[in-house]
Amino acid sequence: MEFRLNLKQNAFHTLHRAILEFRSRNDTEETVQFDHDDHSLTFLRADGTKGFYLDEGYTHPPGYYNLKFCILGLIQTLELLLKEALRAENPNSIFTDSSHTKTISLSSAVKKIQDVMPNLFNEAQLSAVIQAKELRNTIEHYEVRWTSEALERIAKYLFSVIMHFCYSVFNIRLAEYYAFDARIGTSSEIVDIIRDLVQNTDNMPSQVSLLSQWSRQNPEDRMLFCIGCGHQSCSSTLKKCILCGEELSPLIEQFQ
Ligand SMILES: [Zn+2]
Repeated sequence: MEFRLNLKQNAFHTLHRAILEFRSRNDTEETVQFDHDDHSLTFLRADGTKGFYLDEGYTHPPGYYNLKFCILGLIQTLELLLKEALRAENPNSIFTDSSHTKTISLSSAVKKIQDVMPNLFNEAQLSAVIQAKELRNTIEHYEVRWTSEALERIAKYLFSVIMHFCYSVFNIRLAEYYAFDARIGTSSEIVDIIRDLVQNTDNMPSQVSLLSQWSRQNPEDRMLFCIGCGHQSCSSTLKKCILCGEELSPLIEQFQ
C-alpha cells in the first residue's frame, strides 16, 4: 500500500492525532493507582479486595501520560505548519542545501517566518514557539516531573497558537476543518475534544488575537456567548463558534 503525504497534509494528519491524544488523557481507571518509583499498580478487584502488580518489565502508565504524545504532536505540527507557510512563499527556503536533502530546523523556521510575516506572532506567542524546541527535547530525554494539570495547560497553549496560525495563514478554523469525515459524515467526536482544548483558556493571547482578527475582518458580525467553550466567540452570521464549532444556541441569540 502506498504511503504519501505532502507537507501540509502531514501537518494536519499529525495535528489530528495530537487532538485525539488529548482525549485519551481521560483513559484513566479510577480504581487503579500507579506508583512512579517502581512502576507498580495497586488496584481494586471486583470483590472489593486490593490487588498489587509489580513487574521488572514495562507497566502501562495511566491515560494522562498520553498528554506527552499530544504535546509532541502539537510541536511537530507547529514545525510542519511553519515550514509549509515558508514553502508556499519560496519552495527552496525550507532546505539547507541546493540538492534539497536536508530541511531546516524548527528554530531557523521560526526566524525565517518572522522575516516573511513579521506581524504573525505577538511576543507571547513567539516565546511559546521558540520554547517548543526546548520543551520537545526535555520531554524526550529527561525524567520530567510535571503534573498532568501543567501538561494540559501546555497542550492548550500550544493548541491555541496553532489555531491562530491556521486561521491567520491558511484561513482554516480547525473545529470546522476537522468536523467532516467523508467516511462517516460529520463527526462530533473531534469537535468535542476541540471544545475541551479551548475551554477555560480565556487569557491565551492566541485566542484573543484570533477573535480580534475575526472581528476586524467581519465588522458587521455580532459575537455572542458560546455555551460550548464559554468564550464570546459565537458568530451570529455563521451561527457557530469560531473557536470550538459549537452551534449558536437559539436561547443565547434571543437574549443577547
Ligand atoms: Zn465555543
